[in-house]
Amino acid sequence: MLDSQAIANYQAPSDLLDGKIILVTGASSGLGKCASLSFARHGATVILLGRNLSKLEAVYDEIEAYECPQPAIFPLNLESATEQDYQALKETLENEFGRLDGLLINAAELGPRTPIGQYKMDAWQKVMQVNVGSTFLLTKTLMPLLNEAKQASIVFTSSGLAQKGRAYWGAYSVSKAAAENMIEVLADELDGSSKTRVNIINPGPTRTAMRAAAFPAEDPETLKEPESIMNCYLYLMGEHSEHLNGIRIDI
Ligand code: NDP
Repeated sequence: MLDSQAIANYQAPSDLLDGKIILVTGASSGLGKCASLSFARHGATVILLGRNLSKLEAVYDEIEAYECPQPAIFPLNLESATEQDYQALKETLENEFGRLDGLLINAAELGPRTPIGQYKMDAWQKVMQVNVGSTFLLTKTLMPLLNEAKQASIVFTSSGLAQKGRAYWGAYSVSKAAAENMIEVLADELDGSSKTRVNIINPGPTRTAMRAAAFPAEDPETLKEPESIMNCYLYLMGEHSEHLNGIRIDI
């Protein structure tokens, strides 16, 4: 059984991720940036994936300043990326590292907050491509590399909206439900047949750029900071959760 209290109080040892190779999407800001720094400080070599090179370089510099394992940058716009781009990512990782120990699927587009009747098709497709299409393509393409690891972990950053749609959240809400369902399908397929596991974190309201864009009138000071929930990400990425597959942590 999932002991939520124990996970909330989890203290990761400083060498938890020593020698691990972990790819983080949306590593340029918010939860993805914070997770990248946290994984690196716990010993991982982190591959920072995002669409904005200068923001990724700033995260790279921050990791280097902590004297963590040297990270890597893979710039990719998940809206326009083709299957060939994902294949190029796989080949780069294969040539550099030969395997992948962890994959944090975290990048997402918020899209407009507007009634379904006024939602524009191009905005809908953009959100679905970034939030669902890339989740599928990343997982599908990188699975052979994850299977090369001793025990690989995939973590998906979801949302409370995946469980219950809410007015004006449009494609974002639909995309989180779809992606979370895909993760459940994958977890069921991996169950008992693979060393790779996949689990979900719903971070809850957290002080990031996306939250500020969604709730411009909200005082960010009232929200928890990304740092405060990194123990959950570390727990699911590290060896202490090796027995878990297909679970969802609601923070
Ligand atoms: P941020 O806006 O800080 O982070 C979103 C990340 O996704 C950024 O790194 C952004 O890159 C990246 N991204 C967006 N579009 C693309 C694209 N086309 N190609 C590549 N990267 C892209 O928000 P959060 O940290 O809050 O979001 C992280 C995750 O947490 C998301 O999945 C979100 O849905 C989820 N979440 C967040 C909550 C919150 O309260 N903050 C609550 C529930 C879920 P760039 O820096 O270039 O914009």
